[in-house]
Amino acid sequence: MFKDMYCNVCGRKLKVENGILLEDAFEARKQWGYFSKKDTEVHSFVICESCYDSMIERFAIPPKVSNALEI
Ligand SMILES: [Zn+2]
Repeated sequence: MFKDMYCNVCGRKLKVENGILLEDAFEARKQWGYFSKKDTEVHSFVICESCYDSMIERFAIPPKVSNALEI
């Protein structure tokens, strides 16, 4: 069951109807470890598809893309 979900980048509320997320979004969760300055902190955020697209446009090396059906 989804509660309200917001894109952390633009703040837009994602489309959720009757507990079902009606659009896909990038969900990240990172537990920082010993060699970081955030040891034991867990960071998580959601990025909507359009913010995700503008984010990866700024990557020097684009993300690796493969087809889930072929794996
Ligand atoms: Zn967004």
